[in-house]
Amino acid sequence: MTKKIFNVLGYDIGGTKIAVSLGSSDGKIIASERLSNKDKTPDEVLPKLVEIGKKLLADAGLKASDLRAVGIDAPAPMDIPRGLILNPPNNKSWDNVPIRDYLSERLGVEAFLENDANAGALAEWMFGAGQGKKNIIYLTMSTGIGGGIITNEHLLHGASFMAGELGHTVIDINGPSCNCGLKGCYEAFCGGRAVAQRIQHELAGQNDHPLVQLADGKIENIDFVTLFKAVKDGNGYAISIWDELCLRHAQAIGLFINSFNPEMIVLGTIACACGDLLMTPIRQHLPRFCWKQMLQDCEIKPAKLGKDIGDYAGICSALNCLYEKGEFELHV
Ligand SMILES: [Zn+2]
Repeated sequence: MTKKIFNVLGYDIGGTKIAVSLGSSDGKIIASERLSNKDKTPDEVLPKLVEIGKKLLADAGLKASDLRAVGIDAPAPMDIPRGLILNPPNNKSWDNVPIRDYLSERLGVEAFLENDANAGALAEWMFGAGQGKKNIIYLTMSTGIGGGIITNEHLLHGASFMAGELGHTVIDINGPSCNCGLKGCYEAFCGGRAVAQRIQHELAGQNDHPLVQLADGKIENIDFVTLFKAVKDGNGYAISIWDELCLRHAQAIGLFINSFNPEMIVLGTIACACGDLLMTPIRQHLPRFCWKQMLQDCEIKPAKLGKDIGDYAGICSALNCLYEKGEFELHV
C-alpha cells in the first residue's frame, strides 16, 4: 500500500460532453476542461482527449512521468474487461471503441474503464456524502436512473460487470414500458424522461393547462423542471403526480434497503435540486417498504459533490482499480 499522493487523469464521457480532469489521490481537482462530443465520431474526439490530458499536465507543471493512471467512465453498455465503449444510445457512432487501450498507450500509464453510475457511486463514497462508510448505495436520478452499490468497502461488479442497474428493477408488472425492453422499471416511473413523456401524453390538447403555460405554451417543452415548478406553485395535478413519484421512489429504495442493508443511500442529481420537497415524502413512505431495523440503520442523503461529480467520476474509477489491486489505500 502506498500513502504517497499521486496524480490521475479522469475522463467522464457523457452523451453530449466530456469532462477531462486532473486530480490527485487525496481528492483534489487540480484542473479540468470540457469538450463537446455531440454528433462527433471517436476519430474526431479521441486525439483531442489525449491532447487535453497532456495540456492539463503541462499547465500544472507536471511531466508525463508524474501521472500514475487514467480513469474513464462512460454510459452503459460497455465491455469493462476489454476496455470498450459499446453503442451508447446518445452517441451511436461510438460503437466498439477501445478507449481504455487508446488512452493508455498514448499517455503511457495504466487506464481503467467504469460504468458512469458506478463511477458516481465511487466518487460519493471516496470524496462525497459516503466518505468513510463501508456500505452505500448511490442513485443518480436525471433523464434515467442509474445506480452503484458499495458493499463492505468494494464496488459490486457482479458476474458480468453489470451489477447496479437499479433503475431497471421492475416495481410493477403492469407498469409502463421502459427503454430497456422491460415493463414497469423504476426508471419508467421516476426517470426524468419518463415523467416528462407521461405528463405530455396526459395533457395532450390542453394548451391552457398551467403546466403547459409554465413550459412557454409548448407541451413538448414540459420536462421534470416544469413539474417541479408547478409543484412549488401548488398545482393540484402536479402535486398528485409528485406524490405518486415519491411513493414509487420509496418503493424502489425500500427494496434496495432490504436487499443490501446499506448504511447510507446517496441520491444524486434531481434529489440535490429538489431537496426536502422530494426527500421528506420519500422518508415518510419508506416504512411501508422495508424492515424497520434496516431503515433505522440507513441514512438517506443528497449527494455532496453536486455538479462537480463529473470531475471526480473518471478519477475515482482509476483510484478504485488501484485500490482493488492493493496499490492505493482509501481514507488515509
Ligand atoms: Zn428498464
